[in-house]
Amino acid sequence: MEKLEYQEGRTELSSFGEFALIDRLTEGFTTHNKSTVKGVGDDCAVLGTGKNKMLVTTNTLVEGVNFDMMYTPLKHLGYKAVAVSLSNIAAMNGIPRQVLVSVAMSNRYSVEAMEEFYAGIRLCCERYDVDLVGGDTSTTRAGLTITVTAVGEVDEDKITYRSGAKLHDLICVSGDLGSAYSGLLVLEREKVTYQANPNFQPDLGGYDYVLERFLKPEPRMDIVKLLKEKNIVPTSMIDVSDGLASELLHICKESQCGCEVYEERLPIDYQTSRVCSEMSQNMLPVSNALNGGSDYELLFTISQSDYEKIKDSEEVHIIGHITEKGSPAVMVTPQNSTIELRAQGWKQE
Ligand code: ADP
Ligand code: MG
Repeated sequence: MEKLEYQEGRTELSSFGEFALIDRLTEGFTTHNKSTVKGVGDDCAVLGTGKNKMLVTTNTLVEGVNFDMMYTPLKHLGYKAVAVSLSNIAAMNGIPRQVLVSVAMSNRYSVEAMEEFYAGIRLCCERYDVDLVGGDTSTTRAGLTITVTAVGEVDEDKITYRSGAKLHDLICVSGDLGSAYSGLLVLEREKVTYQANPNFQPDLGGYDYVLERFLKPEPRMDIVKLLKEKNIVPTSMIDVSDGLASELLHICKESQCGCEVYEERLPIDYQTSRVCSEMSQNMLPVSNALNGGSDYELLFTISQSDYEKIKDSEEVHIIGHITEKGSPAVMVTPQNSTIELRAQGWKQE
């Protein structure tokens, strides 16, 4: 009897995607403070009553879910945990200032191992002039869980939300897409081979770029700087953590618009294409670019009047434009057919 009652009101996590779950859990909340400028729903919360706003974001990495100790050096992991949070500050057009780092670890980790992890945290903090100002330390029964909260700042008139894209705005993306996921595919392939034969020495030569993209991503602070130098305030911005398709859909939803991106304009590195062709004939580099995720590039929209200012920047690629409200988010193929974009994101398995 008891068991039946319990089951009646139970909705499985697997029936929800990440974003639907966040919406469901946070829907009853309203904000009560004047200093809460933006709450849930963007890359960072925006806080403060003055002209200079504070940005806050938090991100968790879980062993076995977000990283695999088989092929993740602890120093890289520390670096990445910080970099991922700084990327969210960059996505608001802000400058990161402080981080808080919380770790929960099992006794499988030694003090020396945790020091190695903190060496990576320190490297990233030094690289981006960020101060480690606190955190929390706890234990787990198994595995390592890391949460990094980052704090940053931005002038009120420079904040870029996901919601400001306007009709005909140009869609831009930094760097290249799909390379981090290609790096993950290589690591997974070597892991399977190693498990089958532990004497096997992994051969990772020629994959250096994609491996670095996955293991040690960089927040694109250089793009935030470039935008400032060029005197451009994007109309909207988001970082590419879940894949281009998912991020474009976030911008379209929040900005109430559609979009069109051109397949041949998507920046894809040759190592990404190489990995795809090695893996399977059916694996297309463009699928990695759309759905791979973990690239931590910046996806943003600019007004057409800013085109001249950015058109020669090597690190920024114009991949499409914003279309009117009610139209879908699509990719146009070289054959001129349109494919509607679908979100991937996180889903409980
Ligand atoms: P990102 O991919 O940029 O890290 P997420 O998809 O994780 O963003 O989160 C989307 C928004 O939902 C953010 O504003 C984030 O702060 C908020 N959010 C995520 N998880 C929770 C939660 N458990 N409770 C409240 N807010 C959340
Ligand atoms: Mg997140």
